[in-house]
Amino acid sequence: MSILVVGTVAFDAIETPFGKTDKIIGGAATYICLSSSFFNNKINLVSVVGEDFPDSAIQTLKEKKVDVTGLQIKKGEKTFFWSGKYHENMNRRDTLETQLNVLENFNPIVPEEFKKSEYLMLGNLMPSVQKKVLSQMKKKPKLIVLDTMNFWMDLFMDDLKEALKEVDVLTINDEEARQLSGEYSLVKAAKIILSKGPKCVIIKKGEHGALLFNEKEVFFAPALPLEEVCDPTGAGDCFAGGFIGYLAKTDDISFENMKRAVINGSAMASFCVEKFGTQKLTEINQSDVDFRVKEFVNLVNFEI
Ligand code: AMP
Repeated sequence: MSILVVGTVAFDAIETPFGKTDKIIGGAATYICLSSSFFNNKINLVSVVGEDFPDSAIQTLKEKKVDVTGLQIKKGEKTFFWSGKYHENMNRRDTLETQLNVLENFNPIVPEEFKKSEYLMLGNLMPSVQKKVLSQMKKKPKLIVLDTMNFWMDLFMDDLKEALKEVDVLTINDEEARQLSGEYSLVKAAKIILSKGPKCVIIKKGEHGALLFNEKEVFFAPALPLEEVCDPTGAGDCFAGGFIGYLAKTDDISFENMKRAVINGSAMASFCVEKFGTQKLTEINQSDVDFRVKEFVNLVNFEI
């Protein structure tokens, strides 16, 4: 099944306790596409970059069978730029700078052939742009997943709440779930978020795993204990890419299958954090992914 991915394609500069990068390739949609490509070869991208964005990075996406027809390249403009610094405890980070650049006037245009994509991943982006993409779909996708972050909640909470009415699954981190719901308890936060529209919510807790809620049930997936955690940037997006990639591959959106999708998403996130930026994702192959998913199964498998 095809997946339409919307989100940022960006330059990032990252500082963690293990090192610092200059401008490297990043962006929510970049991570989502690279991650989903291990499950699916019908990935349709809608995003925008400036003239400064390297052709080689677009080529990398093409090699992963991502259709970049919907990637606008704005002449004379600059690509979205984000820089962040992680604390000693890498579950916490500060955004140092966000330069919207091409995003400021981004009008997403969904190519005709993408408008019937069966799965829709609304990656982190202005909620109004996420809504514009939704309104261009010719057929309601089987599943709509939305990811967002505090930056957009601070600026455009009302737009975000409007968009939430139309989505099936919201992925969000623990702090953002608390901000969106006004509740500290994640169980209460999930209930409030579910009352705003989504049928399911996934609350990501960094190295402490992820919780999947629907109205009646909850499922927990741990994060894989890793020897090397170098840079958590993009882990949430890789999680989302693995999650929707697996659901689209199996074409089953039951809660039981979502549990498996959460494990596949967690496996993809565990690769992402091992090296800076997207590097690890471009080094691994299908058998690495299969092996890692088995590691997850072994990690949580026990008898009583
Ligand atoms: P994550 O670590 O999963 O939250 O995603 C990090 C990626 O999100 C980076 O590659 C950034 O380029 C991108 N990003 C940072 N801030 C924003 C924002 N306000 N909107 C969209 N994408 C962003």
